[in-house]
Amino acid sequence: MSAPVCPRCAGPMWTSPLLGLSSHHVSGCALGDAEDVRLVGDHDVGRARLGRPWRRTTTATERTLLLAAGADAERVRWSEADITMLSPGLRRRVFHSLGQQIVVSSLDGMPVTDTPPGAVQ
Ligand SMILES: [Zn+2]
Repeated sequence: MSAPVCPRCAGPMWTSPLLGLSSHHVSGCALGDAEDVRLVGDHDVGRARLGRPWRRTTTATERTLLLAAGADAERVRWSEADITMLSPGLRRRVFHSLGQQIVVSSLDGMPVTDTPPGAVQ
């Protein structure tokens, strides 16, 4: 299976050992914009929680990206995310559903890397 991409802009998706599900979107991608908005919201919650992790329901965008990555639809429907803000712009997300972790790195074709696939280093 080929590597998963954003269903709106075809930007690459991958999983980072540090951050979890990651994606790169072209400018103007509605899913990328929604991810950016949620990151800011998570940053605000993380600051109020003084860095302590928390669990929240996954967003519609996260569910869309998880489905595009090949996660099981029934598990995605009931998914939650454990959020840890590592710094103002870095967020670790671990997805859970029905008492089990959704192991994004084990999804078919999912690259596991710290940098976007194809990025010049
Ligand atoms: Zn996109």
